[in-house]
Parts: sequence; C-alpha cells; structure tokens
Amino acid sequence: MNYLSICLLRCKATEKVTYVRFTHGDTCPWYMQYNLPNMPDLLSRWKIGLSRSSKAVFGRLVSLFGATEINNQTWEEVESLLIQADLGLETTASVLESLQAAVQNQGLIHTAELQSLLKAELRLRLDVPPEMDYTSRPTIILLVGVNGSGKTTTAAKLGRLFVDSGKSVLLVAADTFRAAAVDQIEVWAERLGLPIVAGQMGSDPGAVVYDGIQSAVSKGYDVVLIDTAGRLHTRYNLMEELKKVYRVAGKALTGAPHAVWLVLDATTGQNALVQARAFKEAVSVSGVILAKLDSSARGGMAFAIQRELGLPIIYAGLGEKAEDLTLFDPDAFVKGILGV
Ligand code: GDP
Repeated sequence: MNYLSICLLRCKATEKVTYVRFTHGDTCPWYMQYNLPNMPDLLSRWKIGLSRSSKAVFGRLVSLFGATEINNQTWEEVESLLIQADLGLETTASVLESLQAAVQNQGLIHTAELQSLLKAELRLRLDVPPEMDYTSRPTIILLVGVNGSGKTTTAAKLGRLFVDSGKSVLLVAADTFRAAAVDQIEVWAERLGLPIVAGQMGSDPGAVVYDGIQSAVSKGYDVVLIDTAGRLHTRYNLMEELKKVYRVAGKALTGAPHAVWLVLDATTGQNALVQARAFKEAVSVSGVILAKLDSSARGGMAFAIQRELGLPIIYAGLGEKAEDLTLFDPDAFVKGILGV
C-alpha cells in the first residue's frame, strides 16, 4: 500500500481495530484483508453486502420510477423485474396487486410515487426474526443444508457471534462423510479459538453428535453448534441419516435440538425453495440462514422463503469472513436491495 495516510485497521494478531498512519511508499502485508469493510456500521454493511442486488434487478426497478406516468407497460416491467429478482410468482402477484390498489385508492399518476410504495410493500412481507431462547444450557443448534450452501462457514461465523455476545460455544463437526468438511471446520475452530468435537471420517454422525452434546453438558457450554453433512435432499438415505442425527440429539439432551437452522445459498434462486421443502419434511426446521446474499444479484429469495415456506430468516451471510454474518434486519435488507 502506498497512497493512504491514515487508515482504520484490524490487526491480524490481536483482532484490535486501530488507526494507523502510513506515509507514501509504506507497505503493510496484512492491510488488504483487514481494512475498512470490518467497520461496525451495520447499515453500511447491509448496503455493501447487497450492492450486487441493488445494482442489478432492483436497481433497474428503481430507475424505472421517474417522471413518467404509470401505465400498463409500467406494471409489466415491475412484474417482470420482481420475478427476475427471485421473489417468486405468488409474492410478485401479491406485491403487484397491492401496488395497483394503492395507486388507484390514492389517485397516483407518476411512477416516481411507486418507489416508497414498493419499499413499504416489500418491508411488509418480511418479519423481524423471533427472539431465540437460550435458557437451556447448553442450547443445541443443528445446522442443515446441502453441500456448498455455506453451512460450515456459517457455523464458524455463528460461533464468533455467540462468543462476542459472551456465550461459550462448542462446535461439533458431524459431517463424517467428507474428510475435507471436518478439516475445514477444524481450521475455522483454530482460527477463532473455539473448542471442537469432530468425528473420524466414516464414523457414525449420530455418535459424534451424542458425544459432543454430552461433552457440552459436562463442561457447561452455553451453545453447541452442530455442522451436519451436506446431504443431497433428494437422496433418501441421507435424509434418513439426518433424521437420526436429530433424534440422537434429543436422546443426548431432552428438548434438543433447540433450533434447526437451514442454511440456504441466496444465489440458487427458486431451487433453494425446493431444497427447503425437503429439509422441512425431514426435520423440523425452525429458521433459515440466508448465506451469500452478497454474491447474489437478485436478493428476492428472502420474500419467497418467508411467504412460501413460512420460515423466519434469522441471519444473513454478507461475505466470506468470520464477521460477515448479521441478524436479519428487514428494514436494512429492503433499503439495501433497493439501494435507497
Ligand atoms: P458447506 O458445504 O455448506 O459447508 O459450505 P461452505 O461453508 O464450505 O461454503 C461454501 C463456499 O461458500 C465457501 O467458499 C465459503 O467461503 C462461501 N460462503 C459461505 N458463506 C458465504 C457468504 O455469506 N458470502 C460469500 N460471498 N461466500 C460465502
């Protein structure tokens, strides 16, 4: 780096955020990874994280709203863009219907007046995540989802969030089908200084879960995060395996698991809904974590999940780093995708 003079930096070793002064010609090898995007301003994080969505389809929607008059073509374009944004057919139809009713009732003429209406209609369709009950000690959280959805990364991110909020966390690596999966979560555990119980490759995932929960009970951990195998939801045996893991958790500790969070990849569009239905049938999913919202250019999945699955979105993944997981905030989300 050779051009900035003062920068807000996060130190790799201490994780402390500090101002550092540079002069021209200075170089700092860890600067690139630990610079400003770690800033605590939540709204900016949402805006940056959702910039692909706001620049792509939703941006086109906003630029449609100008000085022109509302006509049939406006409605056709709004409908087509909402579908392209992955809102799903039902949600799109209901948003369109409400907008048209509002335009008629309020006697609106100009497309510019549609922007705030659309914002309100979108916001109406998202719930604030329900409060999670952490009274059980330990609270057992099962993370499920297909391979590549972002489950392992999300387990690590959640671990960090809980530790930051003062809770002790145990990670349990129950994906014993893939050695790489266990390696990956062990790397995260080491990086974040989190304890981990991991199964041997090919061992019974139920046994790993049982051992992990027993260990958490005896050591008094607050939260156990269980990373399960990324079983393909269309593979019956693998779904059966997941049901077994669920039952074993209940045997290891009455009432467990206290939450089952389905990690969905926001870039997979409507296919994620198909996956979600299959997981919902196998285990009682209590909420969704929408990962990779920053990589998605459409971002409308959130509305379809809420409407078509009736599942709350609890957290959103806005990047690949440990700190890139945020409690779902419907206001910030809607502002972020519309870029307003
Ligand atoms: P798993 O197979 O479901 O455990 O998925 P992983 O946790 O291994 O994630 C798959 C890929 O997605 C990895 O390259 C992660 O870095 C990446 N990933 C996970 N969450 C996010 C996110 O919120 N944003 C972005 N951009 N990438 C993510």
